[in-house]
Amino acid sequence: QGTSGPLASVAPSRNAVRQATSGQRPRRPRRYRLAGRRRKADRRIRAFPMSGATAAGAIAALLRAHRLPMLHSPFACSLAAARSLGAHLPPRAPAAAAPLSSRLSLARLRSGASPRFFSSSCGAPGSAVSSSAAEHEEPRKSELIFLGTGTSEGVPRVSCLTDPSKTCPVCIKAVEPGNRNRRRNTSILLRHVTPSRTSNILIDAGKFFYHSALEWFPAFGLREIDAVIITHSHADAIGGLDCLRDWTNNVQPSIPIYVAPRDYEVMKMTHHYLVDTSTVIPGAAVSTLQFNIMEEEPFTVQDLEVIPLPVWHGQGYRSLGFRFGDICYISDVSDIPDETYKLLEDCQLLILDALRPDRSSSTHFGLPRALEEVRKIKPKRTLFTGMA
Ligand SMILES: [Zn+2]
Ligand SMILES: [Zn+2]
Repeated sequence: QGTSGPLASVAPSRNAVRQATSGQRPRRPRRYRLAGRRRKADRRIRAFPMSGATAAGAIAALLRAHRLPMLHSPFACSLAAARSLGAHLPPRAPAAAAPLSSRLSLARLRSGASPRFFSSSCGAPGSAVSSSAAEHEEPRKSELIFLGTGTSEGVPRVSCLTDPSKTCPVCIKAVEPGNRNRRRNTSILLRHVTPSRTSNILIDAGKFFYHSALEWFPAFGLREIDAVIITHSHADAIGGLDCLRDWTNNVQPSIPIYVAPRDYEVMKMTHHYLVDTSTVIPGAAVSTLQFNIMEEEPFTVQDLEVIPLPVWHGQGYRSLGFRFGDICYISDVSDIPDETYKLLEDCQLLILDALRPDRSSSTHFGLPRALEEVRKIKPKRTLFTGMA
């Protein structure tokens, strides 16, 4: 280069310095190294069928190359996870041979997205363990699909991204498609399997329901919604009820919805046109919901016993968690009343609100408090949700 102009002041890259001083080949940029590792891992996993031990190693390498966490043993992560990465697995990879030993087997599906799925014993004791929920297969066992695990604003937050100091590493990373920190309003979908049918039971349809459904309904082959159960009447739990019109106009005539009396009273104001459809202009399309008022007593939805778990969600404000079989789900909680602890006994899987890593808010557990409750409730396993 010449001796003047902007180029003259550009410092040589570290690679160039390394090359000049050592005579070695420059190191390839990180993204190429990662891509190379992925290609190698993909090639390795394509060598199926292979022995159990080799397959476990290949899956582990694949998950590592895609920077996915290892959850349990590689096999518990299962071929479903590998396949959902678009791995070049043959259609009949030896999934059935995978020893999914735990009754609750966790598979991380789709690189980086927030929902995860559980195949569980809930409501179908003794049934065969499902090896994969991906690829539109009918599950053989009930499953829990996380449609959202984030706070009301969602992650990333617009305010973080527009902050001139740009100091929030979580939100900056969360913008990337498929990033694990991209989180929507807390919601789960229970795909409940009985010998006669499979029903889809949705817990909450908040502000981001459309976006969650758009991503996960096609991916899991979900079509109908057989029931919606509402935890409480905040916008991140009921703000998506309008979106259900796509189902009641195009998939099914109506959707049963289960709400506590206090939340029904709120909906009479916030969603008056869904509660009393006589006010709707003829021909206008709104969701057709059948309202069922649930008291704080066990009730049955699509052959599934649901036990409401009353909790405080801010001073003087009640929200409901729900228990299905030995799974307890509490997404919005600031305190647990004494009488609810006995409903949490012998819980195998607890899904619990943990808004922030350092402290609680007036309406949500933070991680320290959530951990305190975990020690008290003693579930076999816990997953945290509602993260900001
Ligand atoms: Zn942020
Ligand atoms: Zn709330």
